[in-house]
Amino acid sequence: MSMTIESSSSNLTHEDVVQVLEQVETRNPNEPEFLQAVHEVLGSLGPVLDRHPEYVKARILDRIVEPERVIEFRVPWVDDSGDVRVNRGFRIEFNSAIGPYKGGLRFHHSVNRSILKFLGFEQVFKNSLTTLPMGGGKGGSDFSPHGCSNEEIMRFCQSFMNELYRHIGPDTDVPAGDIGVGGREIGYLYGQYRKLTNTFTCVLTGKSTEWGGSLIRPEATGYGSVYFAAEMLQTRDMTLDGKTCLVSGAGNVAQFTIEKLLALGAKPVSISDSSGFIHDPDGITHERLEFLMHLKNHRRGRVHEYAEKFPSASFHATEPGGDSNPLWQIPCDCAFPSATQNEINEIDAKHLVDNGCYLVSEGANMPTTSAGQAIFKHAGILYGPGKAANAGGVAVSGLEMAQASQRMYWSSEEVDRRLKGIMASIHKACIDAADEYGTPGDYVNGSNIAGFTKVADAMMAQGVI
Ligand code: NDP
Repeated sequence: MSMTIESSSSNLTHEDVVQVLEQVETRNPNEPEFLQAVHEVLGSLGPVLDRHPEYVKARILDRIVEPERVIEFRVPWVDDSGDVRVNRGFRIEFNSAIGPYKGGLRFHHSVNRSILKFLGFEQVFKNSLTTLPMGGGKGGSDFSPHGCSNEEIMRFCQSFMNELYRHIGPDTDVPAGDIGVGGREIGYLYGQYRKLTNTFTCVLTGKSTEWGGSLIRPEATGYGSVYFAAEMLQTRDMTLDGKTCLVSGAGNVAQFTIEKLLALGAKPVSISDSSGFIHDPDGITHERLEFLMHLKNHRRGRVHEYAEKFPSASFHATEPGGDSNPLWQIPCDCAFPSATQNEINEIDAKHLVDNGCYLVSEGANMPTTSAGQAIFKHAGILYGPGKAANAGGVAVSGLEMAQASQRMYWSSEEVDRRLKGIMASIHKACIDAADEYGTPGDYVNGSNIAGFTKVADAMMAQGVI
């Protein structure tokens, strides 16, 4: 079976790339998100293979697209009415050539093997870009915390960990949060791990600072995405000051993207969740952000309440089956997609570009479809793909592991300083690799190539395993 996934990248002609892509399509026919992610990365690698025939000989591509281990398990739990529920749990341990597997857990009804394999694959290159010693992994469940009581969520997390604990460890695999897994879920998961193993170790990141977490970890993905945007703008002698910014999502990444945008003088004007989006032309101020955080993190409500509280804002309900998302029609300077994969399709990308957007920094993982990426590339806008722009979260997870090893805590200022430095290094690595391989300013190629070569060299050094 041959899939027709378009790639934004130019070089899909290298013989080895073509052959590996065909094999991946044959072996994973029902995994569209995974195939999309593999196409995107491999589409950048032709020129690298031309220069490094040793990678071809060692079959690095064939090996790097196969997860080292895929774990799938039953998660039975009892709901508040006494009924037994059964969900599916996963952990994809994708690549540990440069460090222990590292990557979040996603709890969402859409979770399946394809989505987690795409996320795990992306994570390999993202973690490599951070400059820290972390391999790539991802996991989760088709369980959605929406509408569940705290007690139900606790029982689910405990059951999930009853199996997962066998496969993870501070030097083996260190999960964190993602969609549907925030501080509350990490707490329940960690508590059960501690009880089962009788150890207090850094086996999960995103923990509360009272029991082993790092300051700035909750903020890190959103802050990092804004720092990356600022770096991109600087290449054109611009700053975020005064810029109108679209943000999608209303969770962890979106909230702290808005907070950092405000700190840098920008004007964020939108948020969204699966029920719809809010447009607030007056701008989401600190006071309004505080309302949003309380709404989402404590009352766990929906975004329409924002428009009921602040009349300058309008709420637009999600229209099922629509061919585009009207959120991306709002005129803006910069866009920060921070909800989920494939939330910007080709039509959305055209709307953004036609309405004046000249920067996209992806807080979410793979929020832009391949065809959407091609639009951004053709328009020559500053386009920071997720594996570079949202690497701040896992980078501070790496700093959480470093602090835990030393039994020390760094101040917020210290962690934020390091985060900013890491995002600047990632930006430079992308720019340098894109330049070196003849596609200056192409952050997709730059991030794929820079992330890949470090992992490939480690795999070469460690033999055929
Ligand atoms: P949260 O669960 O905190 O928030 C997710 C937000 O996106 C919610 O507002 C949710 O709305 C919305 N959303 C999720 N799925 C859909 C969908 N199918 N359609 C419309 N809206 C949707 O997750 P995070 O903020 O942590 O994650 C957001 C993105 O950032 C994800 O792509 C994640 O992989 C990525 N990311 C997160 C990192 C982190 O550190 N947390 C690190 C790097 C990347 P609703 O509540 O209605 O579902």
